[in-house]
Amino acid sequence: MPACCAMRAKASDMHSKDCVKVAVRVRPFNKRERDAGSRSIVSMVSSSITIQDPRDPQSRRSFCFDYAYWSHSGFARDRGGLYVPEEPGGRYADQDSVFQDLGEGILENALQGYNATLLAYGQTGSGKSYSMVGYGPNKGLVPKLCDRLFQAIRENQDTRQCQVFFSMLEIYNEQVVDLLSRGSRNPGGLRVREEQQRGFYVEGLRTVPCDSAPQVEQLMEQGTRTRTTAATHMNANSSRSHMLIILQLKQIFSKESITKQSNINLVDLAGSERQRSSGSEADRLKEGTAINLSLTTLGNVISSLADVAVGKKVVHIPYRDSVLTKLLQSALGGNSRTVMIATLSPADICYEESLSTLRYAERAKRIQNRAVVNESPTERLVKELKAENARLLQRLSRLGQEGRRANDETSKTMILFMCLCLGESSAGSSQTDPSLLAVFYDYIKLMPMVAEANQMSQELNKGVEFKLEIKNLALSDSKGHDLEKEIAVRVTCMGRKQVWMWSKAKFVNRKFLMEEAYQQHQAEKNGDNKVEGLSTAALPRDKDPFWDPVEPLLLGTAHLWLQSLAFRIPLEEQLEVLGSEGTEEAILQAQLVPCTFTGLPLGEDDILIDPSELLGRRLDFQLVLEQCCGLRWIREARNRGVQIGFRLFDSSQPLYSPAVWHNVNPLLDHRVHFASLHTSQRLLDYLQSSAVVLELWGLQEGCTDLISSLEGVRMTTEGIFIIEEAGPTHTAPVDSAEPSCSVRVLQQDLEELKSVNTSLRKENHSLREQLNAARNGGDSVRGRSVRPSCDAEFARALKVFYHSMTSVRAQLQRLRRHRPSEESDLLGLRLFVDEQSRLLRDFSEQLEQSVSTLKQDVAAIVRRKRERSGIWS
Ligand code: ADP
Ligand code: MG
Repeated sequence: MPACCAMRAKASDMHSKDCVKVAVRVRPFNKRERDAGSRSIVSMVSSSITIQDPRDPQSRRSFCFDYAYWSHSGFARDRGGLYVPEEPGGRYADQDSVFQDLGEGILENALQGYNATLLAYGQTGSGKSYSMVGYGPNKGLVPKLCDRLFQAIRENQDTRQCQVFFSMLEIYNEQVVDLLSRGSRNPGGLRVREEQQRGFYVEGLRTVPCDSAPQVEQLMEQGTRTRTTAATHMNANSSRSHMLIILQLKQIFSKESITKQSNINLVDLAGSERQRSSGSEADRLKEGTAINLSLTTLGNVISSLADVAVGKKVVHIPYRDSVLTKLLQSALGGNSRTVMIATLSPADICYEESLSTLRYAERAKRIQNRAVVNESPTERLVKELKAENARLLQRLSRLGQEGRRANDETSKTMILFMCLCLGESSAGSSQTDPSLLAVFYDYIKLMPMVAEANQMSQELNKGVEFKLEIKNLALSDSKGHDLEKEIAVRVTCMGRKQVWMWSKAKFVNRKFLMEEAYQQHQAEKNGDNKVEGLSTAALPRDKDPFWDPVEPLLLGTAHLWLQSLAFRIPLEEQLEVLGSEGTEEAILQAQLVPCTFTGLPLGEDDILIDPSELLGRRLDFQLVLEQCCGLRWIREARNRGVQIGFRLFDSSQPLYSPAVWHNVNPLLDHRVHFASLHTSQRLLDYLQSSAVVLELWGLQEGCTDLISSLEGVRMTTEGIFIIEEAGPTHTAPVDSAEPSCSVRVLQQDLEELKSVNTSLRKENHSLREQLNAARNGGDSVRGRSVRPSCDAEFARALKVFYHSMTSVRAQLQRLRRHRPSEESDLLGLRLFVDEQSRLLRDFSEQLEQSVSTLKQDVAAIVRRKRERSGIWS
């Protein structure tokens, strides 16, 4: 094959290891480079590439990659406009040979059920889009991949059914734009959300089912057009944005009852030149916050993963720091086979950029992934479950015929609500939630037993009713994640309205004892076994398997999210308390009030724009439980009461509010003061990502109140609960000159920013007044809060603005430092002027962008607030 002779080499097999495969490609000189009389400083031998410093020809750096493509010289343009090697077998690597190495492997991976990702990285104008998408007849990897994909689908028609879905999006300034949905572009972009099974995804992104390559090409054209207009709209050019094409391939092998699903991510990254740092470490950090956060974060993620690969201890991989890395999480260090093509210019004037591209690529090469085939035997599983279900229903009806009638129609329905749910879940995602499956099995196993227990209770005149319930443990999780589910049996004593919740094990055990009692009762009835003493129908309480001492019962929970505390913003919420099956148990009015040591509420001036200001400082706040409304537990039986339990941060023991009885809408008026004496990053993370779980406990006649155990709890003499102490581990010693120096620089910056902050606060204050006016106009009902807090949204918008101002400042500094070199000739001066005007343009763009984002955000908040006060009034 002529392609083998081309200047490229395959250093290792695509499937042997899941390291990220890296290819480099050098393009022809462009006009500017030719006009400047550039010479090439790059050479290639096999898959290694050497770059020479134009100012010091002795200084060379060599890198070895999986593939190296020479597309710089030795090519001709054929009649159709196609770039081909000058002579057959020449060293020029054309689009076809690149596709054969990189594209075919990705296709093969996808067909096997692996996720696959292809990233193009390099300076603007280095050939990323040429390699990924191509121009005119020189089609790039994406269209060639689609051609081959649909061809493969046609060839395999008799073994599998395939579906392809296409989406195309752009990330610009951390905003996601759907390139396939015209007109509906909202100013803030689409939201990136996270789900446990699915990982990060873009909410509401248009996915178009496709059945041919021309259809995909048409969509790509449409997307590219939208991208250009979107770029003009945002005063930028598309080299500053990332373009992401997602091809989802679903294959159904009906004979084997297997479904395979794979995502192919094709990413044309923003020009790499923007993320290079020019100044100090502090500058670099600031610059990273906005210019192209995604690209900087991608670099950081790659660095961390490269460190992991060489065995260094890495505590945190910053996937969550940018939109791009969120969306590529599984492509990088996760479940995907990933290829990066790094493109560069071989011209001497691009030395710095090209060297930095090669270094970046070098690090990416070390990343190791753990790709797995995404297949699931879903259909078969559902079939088996349905068959088992049918058998069970049959058994159930037999039980009924035998006289032990199972009158629990709801249970049957329930089994059917669960079958559907299982079916749905296996069709939607490719995997069935194993915990749901376990619950399903438990449910069908326990159902006839519960029916029998009810039957026995009836015959023995116990007045006790049994009911199966599914407990969703997510309700008690402080992050609200969908954890496991569990089966429990609710036992109700009809007369006294007492309720118990029995675990599965307890029920099974009791059922055993009930059967004994039942048999004895039958024997007594028949007169063939006279027992001394009491008859089974009137066993002493402690011997009666149908009865238990009464205890407080967990009725449901509500989540009060703590994020506003990180900004020292008060929060007032009306929370829905949900029972384990999603029933509304009550409405709970609660507040979080940031306060002083003495408990005085803080004012607007104390609102923080950057939560990290709290680090190392004391934070005081009060949790206020005001009132419970519409308590279902009390409505059912008046002789009951409730308490609220809650647990904060690391505390092992819950605290409880005092018990209130007999009232459907009891006032709680319970206030607890907490303090962190020395706020750590860990506490800050907790506040920003967690909720305090408020547990609603039901009290019943004969049970004792729940009491807060104060064992191991630290309190100040004023009765303030300490959630975090000032520990020696929290104070990092500043012992070397360097960090203290950079700390000083940062402190200076902080001072400057504080003055910006003060003027923003003034503005903030007047906006707040406007907001309040809007709120009071629309909603005068006391206790009805606006939720979730607009204050937090506002602080967030300010925070974004604050970050972008930081980077604008960095850019200004860079402009100030930018000088022509001493020995510049005319050309040098011209380049300097070009660069200078580019920096100026960037600077003003960024400034305008920041201000307009702030304006948009504020407008959106005001609008939302109006809408909400409309809804709540
Ligand atoms: P990027 O997407 O990195 O900004 P482009 O892919 O748009 O850069 O390439 C810039 C120019 O260089 C385009 O005119 C393109 O046609 C040309 N070019 C890039 N790579 C090659 C190549 N391998 N062979 C021929 N021309 C190329
Ligand atoms: Mg491009």
